Amino acid sequence: MSHHPTIAVVGSGPIGSAYARLLLKGLPDARVIMFEAGPQLTARPGESVRNIADPDEKARAREMSQGPQAGDHRESLGIPAATVVEGMFTARQGTHLFDFGGDGSAHAPSFPAAAGATNVGGQGAHWTCAIPRPAFSEKVDFIADDEWEDLIRTAEGLLHAQSAAFADSAVGRGIRSLLSEEFGAELPEGYGPGTLPVAGDPQPDGTMRWAGADAVLGPLIEPGDPLAERFELRDLSLVRRIERDGERVTGVTVEDLRTRETAFVPADLVVVAADAFRSPQLLWASGIRPTALGHYLTEHPVVISTVALDGEQMARYATEDELDAELARRATNAADPVAAVNRIPFSEPDHPYSLQVMYSETTPFPMDPEHPLATNRWGYVNMGYGMRKFPRYEDAVTFDDAELDYRGFPNMTIEYELTDREHAEIDAATDRLRRAGEALGTFVAEPRLMPNGSSLHYQGTMRMGPADDGTSVADPWSRVWGVDGLVVGGNALIPTATAMNPTLMSVAIAVRGARKAVEGLSARTAASVTA
Ligand code: FAD
Repeated sequence: MSHHPTIAVVGSGPIGSAYARLLLKGLPDARVIMFEAGPQLTARPGESVRNIADPDEKARAREMSQGPQAGDHRESLGIPAATVVEGMFTARQGTHLFDFGGDGSAHAPSFPAAAGATNVGGQGAHWTCAIPRPAFSEKVDFIADDEWEDLIRTAEGLLHAQSAAFADSAVGRGIRSLLSEEFGAELPEGYGPGTLPVAGDPQPDGTMRWAGADAVLGPLIEPGDPLAERFELRDLSLVRRIERDGERVTGVTVEDLRTRETAFVPADLVVVAADAFRSPQLLWASGIRPTALGHYLTEHPVVISTVALDGEQMARYATEDELDAELARRATNAADPVAAVNRIPFSEPDHPYSLQVMYSETTPFPMDPEHPLATNRWGYVNMGYGMRKFPRYEDAVTFDDAELDYRGFPNMTIEYELTDREHAEIDAATDRLRRAGEALGTFVAEPRLMPNGSSLHYQGTMRMGPADDGTSVADPWSRVWGVDGLVVGGNALIPTATAMNPTLMSVAIAVRGARKAVEGLSARTAASVTA
C-alpha cells in the first residue's frame, strides 16, 4: 500500500510557510497541516498588515497579533488578562513582550524588549521587509559558496525580493549621494551606500505591496491550485507537544483554542518554526533537550536616530520640482510612510555593522510644534545601525518545569549580557551614525542604544552545526540531532555573529532543510511502496 506522508508545520511565519511550499512541491503525495497559535488577520492568509489602507483596520489587525497584551482580543485567544506594570516597555505594534510583567510572564530583565507576534504570518505580517544578503563571516562556513548562492536566490524568489525599491526616488538618490561623499572612500568596492533590498512587489503607482507569509505560501493559498488542495492552515491552534515513539517523532498534540479541545495529529515529519523563543520552549516541553537548546542567544544591538534632511545639501542632488513630484505621489498613499530605503551593508574588516536609512515624510514620534524643524519640507530619515553580538553559551533562554507561563509551558528566563567586544563595535558604529547624520542634516533624535531585545532579530537558540558536539541543536540540514523526523526552522538556526536582518538567511537555511526532507520522505515513501 502506498503511503501519503503528512507533515505538521508549527508556526505560520515566513519560515514555516517556506517549508510548507517546498515540501508540497517536492512531494506530490504529501499533505501539509500548518498549525498557528494566533488568529488569521486578513482575508488572504499571512498578508503584511502594512498593505491594509484603512487605519482602523490596520490598528485592529495589529492588536489581534499581540497575544497577552491584546486588549479585547485577548480573551478569544484563551489568555488571562495581563497586568500592565507601570514603566514597562511597550512592544512594537503587532508584537507582544514576553516579559510583560503580569501572571505567567517570562523573566527577562536583561533582555526586556524581547517580543513575538501571535497571528497567521507571524512577525512576517509586521516586518519592515528588509532582506539584505549575509556576507563575509555572517555566512555559515560549512555550506559551500555555490550551494549558498543557489539557496539565497531561491529564498529571494520565495520572498519576492526587490533590489531596487524606490530607486527612482529623487530624495533617495540624494541621501545615497550624500552618504557616498562621506563614506565612499573608506568602504570596499560593492559595499558602499546603496538601495536596501526588500521583500515586496512594486505597484504601477509607485507604491509597494509588501510581502508577508502570503507571498511565500504563493500557490498554497490560491483557490483551485492543485497544491492548495493538499494544504491546510489551522489558526488558533496551539501545538502543546511534539510526540515521539523512542527517538522517532509520531506527530503533535494540538489544542484548538476555540473549543479548548486537545487532539493528537499523527505526522511523518514535524517542522517547528515557532520563533527563536517559543520553538526551543516547545522542544523543551516535549522532553527534547539538547545541551545547546536555548543557548548562544544573539541579536543585533541597535543604535537609532532621526535626522531632518538639510534642504541645501539635498538640493545639490534633487531639484525642488522632483521633490514636489515625490510629495504629490506620496500623498496618494498616506497609509505607508516609507518612501525610500537605503543602506550601507556589512563588510569586513572595517565596517562590520549594517546601516539602514528609511526616508519618511514625518518623524516616528510627535515633535514639539515649536521645534524649528517640526515641519521640514525635505522630510526626515529614521536611521540606525545594527551591530554584532558574539555567541556565548551563557546568553540563553532557559525553561523552568516548576513554573508554568500564561500558556501553560515551562516558563522562560532570559539571561543576556553585552561584553567589551560588543561595546567596542557599538561605539564605533555610533560614531559613524553621527557622521551619517551630520552629512544628511540635523538630528531631531540623537543616536541612542536601544534596550536589549529591540532588534526583533533573535538568533542562535537552536543553532545548526557541523557536528553533534553539544554546541548545536540541529545538523547542517536543520534536523534536530538524535531525533528522527524533527526539523527546526527560523532565525534560531543562525550560528554566526551577524549584523544583517536575518529573515532571508533563515529562509535560505529552510530551503536547504526542505530539500533534504523531500529526499528523506521520498525514500521512505518508495520503501513503503515496495514493502
Ligand atoms: P515568526 O514570523 O515569528 O512566526 C512564528 C509563528 O509561530 C507565530 O505566528 C507564532 O504565533 C507561532 N507559534 C509559536 N508557538 C506556537 C505553537 N506552540 N503552536 C502554534 N504556533 C505557534 N526581519 C528581517 O529580516 N527584515 C526586517 O526588515 C524585519 N523587520 C521587522 C520588523 C518588525 C516590526 C518585526 C516584528 C519583525 C521584523 N523582522 C525583520 C523579523 C522577521 O519578521 C522574522 O525574522 C520572521 O518573521 C521570522 O519568521 P519565522 O517564520 O521564523 O517566525
